[in-house]
Amino acid sequence: MATYEDVVNLALRRSLFYPASEIYANAPAGFYDYGPFGTTIRRKIVELWRKELIQKEDMLEVDGAVIMPEDVFKASGHLTNFNDPITQCSKCKTIHRADKLLEETTKKPYKEAAPVEELTAALREHKLKCPKCKGDLSDVRQFNMMVKAEVGISTKSACYLRPETCQTIFVDWSRLVRTMRVKFPKGVSQVGKSFRNEISPRQTLIRQVEFSQMETEVFFDPEQINEMEKWDEVKGYPLRIMKTGSDKVEYISAERLVKDKTVTGKLIAYYLARTQQLFEKYGIPTEKMRFRQLDDKERAFYAKEAWDFEVETSLGWVELTANNYRTDYDLKGHMEASKKDLNFTTPEGRKFIPHVWEISMGLDRIFYVILELSYRKQGDREWLSLPTALAPIQAGIFPLMANEKSKELVKKAKEIHKDLSCFEVMYDETGGIGKRYARLDEIGVPYCITVDFDSIQNNDATIRTRDTAEQKRIKIADLKNELYKLITGG
Ligand SMILES: [Zn+2]
Repeated sequence: MATYEDVVNLALRRSLFYPASEIYANAPAGFYDYGPFGTTIRRKIVELWRKELIQKEDMLEVDGAVIMPEDVFKASGHLTNFNDPITQCSKCKTIHRADKLLEETTKKPYKEAAPVEELTAALREHKLKCPKCKGDLSDVRQFNMMVKAEVGISTKSACYLRPETCQTIFVDWSRLVRTMRVKFPKGVSQVGKSFRNEISPRQTLIRQVEFSQMETEVFFDPEQINEMEKWDEVKGYPLRIMKTGSDKVEYISAERLVKDKTVTGKLIAYYLARTQQLFEKYGIPTEKMRFRQLDDKERAFYAKEAWDFEVETSLGWVELTANNYRTDYDLKGHMEASKKDLNFTTPEGRKFIPHVWEISMGLDRIFYVILELSYRKQGDREWLSLPTALAPIQAGIFPLMANEKSKELVKKAKEIHKDLSCFEVMYDETGGIGKRYARLDEIGVPYCITVDFDSIQNNDATIRTRDTAEQKRIKIADLKNELYKLITGG
């Protein structure tokens, strides 16, 4: 099994991702850049989400401003509720997350929303000291995680970088209803950056200050929560469920979840199923997934029902998607604060505030977890067994060598490269052939096509498959069809 270090080392070696502004010693922690092939893999993760959720479920996609006025976050509750409990060392002045320190010492989960007095008492009870210098720790206090933005020279209104992308969707909702012929249930999605002033950013892409989300808010009529047009497509689908109070994961069909009232209605079981199906397409083995039901204490302040979608990794179970039944909390809050009527009126004249089912995905975490679960090692060989849909390129094209004696090979390989330009292909002649295979294996390229001296005689080339390292000879005239079949699985 891959370790966290295996994955990070490979990512750094191939520049899939790396610390932002790394040439400066004082660059803050918690920021990462994606390199050339990392950018492509990440974009393909987004494309698959777009295809499976937005297109197939007929959702709307928006792309909102990152900076929003204070009023938005007063209405959303973030300015008062979006806090981390912190404690400071009296000696070295390092600030620590109190709940994380307690978790690491006691191996028990501590809720970040627990009252500060409770956390202070627990720090004292366990006689916790600063992990860096053994200094005394201060009483716990709340620290607001919003990142403030200085905009223009006007002091009319403070602005913040959004801590989650979904607020755009809520403030845009009434415009979408007016202009987009909305019929319930209607998902509105957005992919984009969010910002949280993390006290202790760590584990590279897992906990960052600046990060990306793929969020969907499904607006619906609460009276129609059990009216799902495509219910038959998912009702028999087995979901990986871990109920509150249980420590085991069971396979439960969408239909059973509704019948047993484990979920509030069909709409929720439907989107849980669609979410799990997307992660199967991402190549995550089903047995590594679970939907963990959150209890009253764990749920966010706005959620009536919540399921964390988690995947088992070398770092433990990592939350990749928060699934929340936010009811009418957000629209109600924005309606009161903005004084705009955000009610929906049916053709029959019934007026109500739509309810919201949220599917909030952490894109960078998903990227990391896909890398880790596709990482393979055999002897000296390391590779990423990425699903073809996520591979940064589909095939590499090489001449066996590129020197004075092999001009013919170079010419032929370049011809093939040109001929296959309808695919995502890359030509490479730099270094030994083994090194070239290794480079592409490590970024998850599924096929390599090589032209050798026999190719000139026989008008053929070899196709090498990443996962098996097996090669077979194919006529150059058949390469296009063959590659198409391999890529589409046809
Ligand atoms: Zn200290």
